[in-house]
Amino acid sequence: MSFEIEHLCESIDRMMQRHLPPDEVRRRDEQADPPNHLLQIFSNMGLFDLVLPSQDNDWDKNCWTRLSVVQERLGYHATMAALLFNRVACFGMMTLITSASKDQQNRFLPRLHAGEGAFALALSEAGAGSDAGAIRTRAERDGSGWKITGRKIWISGAADAIKMIVAARTDPNSKGGAGITLFMVDPDAAGVSMTRLEKIGNRCSLSYDIGLDGVLVTDEDVIGAVGGGFDCLKKTLFYARSGLSAAVVGTAQAAVDRAVVHAREREQFRKPIGSFQVIAHRLANMQTEVDLARLLARELSAAIDAGRDCSRLAAQAKLVSTETLKRVTEHGMQIMASAGYASESDMNRYWRDARLYSFGEGSSEILLDLISADMGVGRGI
Ligand SMILES: Cc1cc2nc3c(=O)[nH]c(=O)nc-3n(C[C@H](O)[C@H](O)[C@H](O)COP(=O)(O)OP(=O)(O)OC[C@H]3O[C@@H](n4cnc5c(N)ncnc54)[C@H](O)[C@@H]3O)c2cc1C
Repeated sequence: MSFEIEHLCESIDRMMQRHLPPDEVRRRDEQADPPNHLLQIFSNMGLFDLVLPSQDNDWDKNCWTRLSVVQERLGYHATMAALLFNRVACFGMMTLITSASKDQQNRFLPRLHAGEGAFALALSEAGAGSDAGAIRTRAERDGSGWKITGRKIWISGAADAIKMIVAARTDPNSKGGAGITLFMVDPDAAGVSMTRLEKIGNRCSLSYDIGLDGVLVTDEDVIGAVGGGFDCLKKTLFYARSGLSAAVVGTAQAAVDRAVVHAREREQFRKPIGSFQVIAHRLANMQTEVDLARLLARELSAAIDAGRDCSRLAAQAKLVSTETLKRVTEHGMQIMASAGYASESDMNRYWRDARLYSFGEGSSEILLDLISADMGVGRGI
């Protein structure tokens, strides 16, 4: 690790100890109280600077490598912090940078960069989960603007977002990914209604069922080309998968570290349970899996920095990191037994949170489809 990256990690460690210490993470998880105060702090630390390209629209050559370290370190301390960071950096800033007009960038990048809030991505619907091309929310011409009608489900952070990016069908005769357009919608616009959904994990990333009843927007709210929404979404999801991979590696490392501490401290049969080979080897396998997932996440960020085409790698990194987190938390729960099963245990939170990532933002099955299609097999034949 370079001196600069080590320094970055240390400043994140200090910031998290001060502004979101472990007790506070547990309290917020229990009370479903999102740590939104961190946005201002991330901004003051310059963490969002990493996402901004320079004047000539270029990123510096280590930008994603540094970003991935930030996301991993935040994920190590609290997944809730990393997910919040990613809603600004990936759903917000990267959507604007890769797909929006100069005017939209000028209006919203400064606000996201200043830590005023995040963006929400409103894609999923009751009938359109993995099959995002099945969305039925529609946007029709209304005078010089658009009228959006439909329902979205499971939308994270929607109520306090600066804007929701809503995917709607603008060509009623289109099917699949064609004829879909992205709109920026105010969460408190007339015609928007929200109901909070209860869930078992990721309790600090509040989820909403959203009604869109004739919501009026203008042409200035259209992101990218009319009918070109799916291409924009692919770019957003590419960066979101990269960010999530790094964050999840951090959480997986935290789970292994927690299990190691327990294995060294907990005694049964007058010995630390970590002295039993079956437990020690299990921990060794867990650490090896996390190290492999980290290598892939870092390889992905280096490939993005090098400008390589890496959508297969993004799918692989997300697949490996999220499945790794699921496995290591499963083992962590077994190693900690009743201590892990107690509501307030960190392992319990890692384990509950882990269930989401292997289907959110592209399920493992769909990622395997993408990877195999890229290899020219499966649906790719
Ligand atoms: C806490 C939470 C937060 C979320 N946040 C957001 C958000 O901010 N924005 C947003 O738009 N959405 C969000 N979602 C929705 C999420 O993206 C979807 O849950 C996800 O896309 C999977 O859709 P589904 O749950 O309908 O599962 P389904 O699509 O019904 O899939 C069920 C199972 O079938 C498998 N499957 C489906 N199709 C295939 C196939 N062709 N081949 C093989 N297997 C297949 C899937 O992999 C999965 O295992 C969130 C969900 C949750 C629970």
